[in-house]
Amino acid sequence: MKISFNKINKTGFTLVNLYEKDIDIKNNICSEKNTEKFLNIKSEFKLTDEMNQRTFLMLIRKVILKAKAEKIQKLSLDYNQIRKIQTEVLDKISEKQNAADFDSAWTAKTVIENIFLAAYKFEKYKSQKENSLEEVLIFGEFSKIEKENFQKGEIVGKAANIARELANTPANDMTPTILAQETKNIFKNYPKVKIKILEEADVKKIGMNLFLAVGAGSQHPSKFIICEYLAGQKNARPIVLIGKGITYDTGGLNLKPGSSMNSMIMDMTGGAVILATLKAVADLKIPKNIIVLVPAVENAISGEAYRPGDIIKSLEGITVEIDNTDAEGRLILADAITYAKKYNPKYLLDVATLTGAAVVALGEYATVILSKENDLSEKVSKLSESTGDLTWPLPMWNLYKDYLKSKTADILNLSTSRWGGTISAALFLYEFVSKIPDVKWMHFDIAPRMTANENDNLESGATGEPVRLLVELISEL
Ligand SMILES: [Zn+2]
Repeated sequence: MKISFNKINKTGFTLVNLYEKDIDIKNNICSEKNTEKFLNIKSEFKLTDEMNQRTFLMLIRKVILKAKAEKIQKLSLDYNQIRKIQTEVLDKISEKQNAADFDSAWTAKTVIENIFLAAYKFEKYKSQKENSLEEVLIFGEFSKIEKENFQKGEIVGKAANIARELANTPANDMTPTILAQETKNIFKNYPKVKIKILEEADVKKIGMNLFLAVGAGSQHPSKFIICEYLAGQKNARPIVLIGKGITYDTGGLNLKPGSSMNSMIMDMTGGAVILATLKAVADLKIPKNIIVLVPAVENAISGEAYRPGDIIKSLEGITVEIDNTDAEGRLILADAITYAKKYNPKYLLDVATLTGAAVVALGEYATVILSKENDLSEKVSKLSESTGDLTWPLPMWNLYKDYLKSKTADILNLSTSRWGGTISAALFLYEFVSKIPDVKWMHFDIAPRMTANENDNLESGATGEPVRLLVELISEL
């Protein structure tokens, strides 16, 4: 699907009509010229006090889903209709909230981003493609700010869809080796992004034993993917992004029940998300130093697989007793966190489909964020609303740390309590983060956002969250 822009509507396009047709003609909002067909959306929404950032982006997605359901190939949108919503919302909210939340820059970016997100469908393996939509034309007169944000929206929306495509690809076509190759493909034409792939032999030499243990049972060799993007000041401490890259999670010897295994092709979503984020950052030429680390591993079963009861010495030197081989994400993240130390990071952000407990805690509509930095938490919470990648914080209280005590090693890889598993997982990671001097860290448990729900108004499968949030965050850090 492509997006094009023009001053006026063109023939052959079905025109979106967000309002009653007769009202449009009266107010001269909807240019009927050159249009024989309309896609009427009016029944789908009401312009009431309910219209806010969330409902606005959902409206855009509904327009696209409806166009696809009606097998429309070419769709056009009168941008004046969007401005009418923007103006009316601004009139209503200007006293109550920050009107800047709904300014023309935000609106332009949000419209384009969500057109791309709603248009995307995973159909790489479909012999007959079902996605009809080929082109969306936005017409009107645009300001410089709007044009810039259209472009930004396209970059970020497309990047989120790259994350979705990687995450949706099944494990038989997404081994650690293939993920490493895909990384090279994504950054083929980006001289500013340097890629290094560490092989098992390389990481063995430096002692990344947790990372190696998780992949030991797989016939597919583990790969430690490193991308370095140094577009910031020469001595500026970088932002390090770490993404969980479990290309398939059987649970290991603590085998998952059959019903929860199918979706484990997406257990590398954290890795996919940060690779896509870096692509958007590079496309937007954001002048920052960013390091991306993706430990890519398959958690499988064989005679070589690591076992419950094993004690493994991490890269940090902390010994870990394995209580459960299905709590593998935190193990590969722990070694990646220690590896990040050599970059002297100012910020460390890790993204992982880490715990089912996160879904229990928040339901399926928000990523859980955990951090000891209140400023960072506040910033992320605000950006989560404006980007639509919703988040909600959980505490990092040391009370929960007692559940990670091991009788025989420094730490246990799974809490001995049934409850609060997202918090104890974050506290496990913090044991390693705390060894990095003066770093601001946040953990994103994206398990609740791994796959789309009905009310997301997206096609089923991966959501690509929180690419939009991370791109904004990086530009503000
Ligand atoms: Zn697992």
